Amino acid sequence: MLDISPSNARVLLKVMNWDHDRLFLEYSDDPVGISKKAGIDINATQMVSGRKGKGECLICLEDSEEITTLTCGHGYCPVCWKKYLEIQIKEKSTNITCPGLNCGKIIDLFIVSQLCGDKDLIDRFNETLIESYVDDNPFVKWCPAPNCKYAIVLSDFKKEHNESVTCLCNHFFCFRCSEIAHEPSFCKQYSSWKIKNSGGDEALNEKFISTISKKCPYCKKPIEKTGGCNHMHCANCGFHFCWQCMGKFGIGPMGDNSGYSNHVCNAYAKEDSKQLSDTEDWERFRWYAERYNNHQKSKELEAKLLDRVVRVRTNLQEQHCVSWTGSQFFLDGIYQLLAARTILMGSYVFGYFRPIDCPHIHKELFEHRQRQLEQHTELLSNCLEIEDTTQIHLKKSEFLNKTRLVENSYKSLIDVANNAFVETNK
Ligand SMILES: [Zn+2]
Ligand SMILES: [Zn+2]
Ligand SMILES: [Zn+2]
Ligand SMILES: [Zn+2]
Ligand SMILES: [Zn+2]
Ligand SMILES: [Zn+2]
Ligand SMILES: [Zn+2]
Repeated sequence: MLDISPSNARVLLKVMNWDHDRLFLEYSDDPVGISKKAGIDINATQMVSGRKGKGECLICLEDSEEITTLTCGHGYCPVCWKKYLEIQIKEKSTNITCPGLNCGKIIDLFIVSQLCGDKDLIDRFNETLIESYVDDNPFVKWCPAPNCKYAIVLSDFKKEHNESVTCLCNHFFCFRCSEIAHEPSFCKQYSSWKIKNSGGDEALNEKFISTISKKCPYCKKPIEKTGGCNHMHCANCGFHFCWQCMGKFGIGPMGDNSGYSNHVCNAYAKEDSKQLSDTEDWERFRWYAERYNNHQKSKELEAKLLDRVVRVRTNLQEQHCVSWTGSQFFLDGIYQLLAARTILMGSYVFGYFRPIDCPHIHKELFEHRQRQLEQHTELLSNCLEIEDTTQIHLKKSEFLNKTRLVENSYKSLIDVANNAFVETNK
């Protein structure tokens, strides 16, 4: 792109905050000025090794046959160079400058590796450079999962959007704040939420316990939740109800399956008043927190489905001659389900912090799509709980269909929030 050595380009890019376009424009305009500002000498870019010859070392003041002189005119003996570079590399310096008094000349990377002559040190230096590349570059992030060594490069990072990414290790996290993915809520909202949701409030703890164990609303027998799906069927009386709101599905006394598509419970009932008292706000928060915690619990339970993957796929291969890639849909389904739970969690954070009087956030649209996502998610969850391999084999297109519906509906939910993000951050 530009006629400069790679190591100089790196220094320049760093000065420009890794903005390639800006570097290109400014460098084309005034190459000498930009380079001076960055502490590099563009005329010397071709002279990679510096000048070697007889002279006096400016550090130890001894005469030597092998003084290496930089283009700034400062030269040192091999012993002093080595000592100096060793200290710089150990201090993890990425832009090593000439040791001359008040001389800010940056030493070219090639010269550094030639002068220091120690393989371990050079390796260490390169490691530091890679680390700093990731740390300084807004388009590159380390995966925050413990023990994961991957870095993620995001080619089109939209400054005005949320960005959640999935690492090769499958960790799903926020590219901005490195917390677990919290879309559609924004980083600030999520960090406030975390503080609020971790408080030692008695009532909240009680509510959290209730994400695992509740009483059947019809026969009052205790029910423990073992799967992620929030469609509940009481084993004792057959009552069919929603774990989130404990409301019954359908129209019959037992509630039947067909009623689910009409079931709406994701909007907080008392939302209208703009000025909430502390108690009212706390009530409201607890309502959102319960929905959030329920989805979190479902996600934990559904993550256990991953334990089944190898067995299911092996069975599909052995009993139904499905190729390994042909059974990928089962794994994809689980990952999309887990992503959907994460996004549903984030959607209640967003819902709680959504400014009530902001005209850019279409509450009804958001809640409509949130409800659609909840519906598709529960249906997919239900589907993935099937254990019988023959059933899974027969229902492959249903799996694929439900997975796609989940993916589409969380994308369109995120869209609503991203529009609000653009509007509220103008
Ligand atoms: Zn010396
Ligand atoms: Zn110098
Ligand atoms: Zn990772
Ligand atoms: Zn974030
Ligand atoms: Zn019951
Ligand atoms: Zn059901
Ligand atoms: Zn409900």
